[in-house]
Amino acid sequence: TTLSAPPLGLLLEDIVRRHRPRQNAGNVPTNIPFLATVPFDRFGIAVATTSGEVYSSGDAGVPFSIQSISKVFTLAMALQGGRSAGLWSRVLREPSGTSFNSLVQLEAEKGIPRNPFINAGALVVTDHLLEETPDAATQLLRFLTEQAGDAGPAPFIDEAAAAGELDSSSRNLALAHFLKDFANLTRPAAVVVENYVRQCSIMMTCVQLARAGLFLANNGQGTAGTVLSPSEAKRIGSIMLTCGMYDAAGEFAYRVGLPGKSGVGGGILVIVPGQCAICVWSPRLDAKGNSLAGTAALADLSDRTGWSVF
Ligand code: GLU
Repeated sequence: TTLSAPPLGLLLEDIVRRHRPRQNAGNVPTNIPFLATVPFDRFGIAVATTSGEVYSSGDAGVPFSIQSISKVFTLAMALQGGRSAGLWSRVLREPSGTSFNSLVQLEAEKGIPRNPFINAGALVVTDHLLEETPDAATQLLRFLTEQAGDAGPAPFIDEAAAAGELDSSSRNLALAHFLKDFANLTRPAAVVVENYVRQCSIMMTCVQLARAGLFLANNGQGTAGTVLSPSEAKRIGSIMLTCGMYDAAGEFAYRVGLPGKSGVGGGILVIVPGQCAICVWSPRLDAKGNSLAGTAALADLSDRTGWSVF
């Protein structure tokens, strides 16, 4: 279904009216102090279409912490221009079914993470990028800024938020040391975790993230030129569908029917292949770490537009 301009704008306004939280329900992550300070009633949504339009409503111009949505983009960077050599022997492409920061599976699978979107897998991807650059987080910021275009305040790394998270990163450090023990990390654990935490602390708006994610809906063609080949873009979409929502990927596929990636900052980036990229943000989370209001809004939006890969 392709919607014409006025109905989509109005629809997004209605989505905001219906789904902006009225009371403080849901969780905030305990390991990132900054996130607990974000007001519970923030809600924004933006749609960037393959024909070049952007529609948005609510707090779509307010920067938020992209957290694990960064994992989609570091993977894209790792696959760009044939840079993926060796990566797929270090990380699998299977849904995890366990929480995003679980150690158990890593032990069982001898240091090979189940997929690039759980923390262990994302640490491997960041380590892979660090083979080419000493500062993968800043390189990611550059990539995102370019793809986001000049809409709104420039994306930035919230270094204070990153420092706060680093202070309570025992678990991510444990994962990194585990990877190292299995010879699946080339850089020192502390270096990889610091880069990873800084990449998670990038602040962007819904409009910027929807624009930055457009290449995934558009055969690898980004707002600022070619990012990936069509086949690489398709594959990232596939991993988003099977692994993008922590251990609720099945439930999200059931409710929304679209590839997505969430972050504990409350953002969700969703792809409608051939049509658009959608970013929704609302900070309070369900028990699995996905935005409560954001997931509900996307289920509503996909039902009302018919947007689905099924
Ligand atoms: N920086 C967060 C962590 O590693 C990201 C978690 C997430 O968004 O899934 O705990």
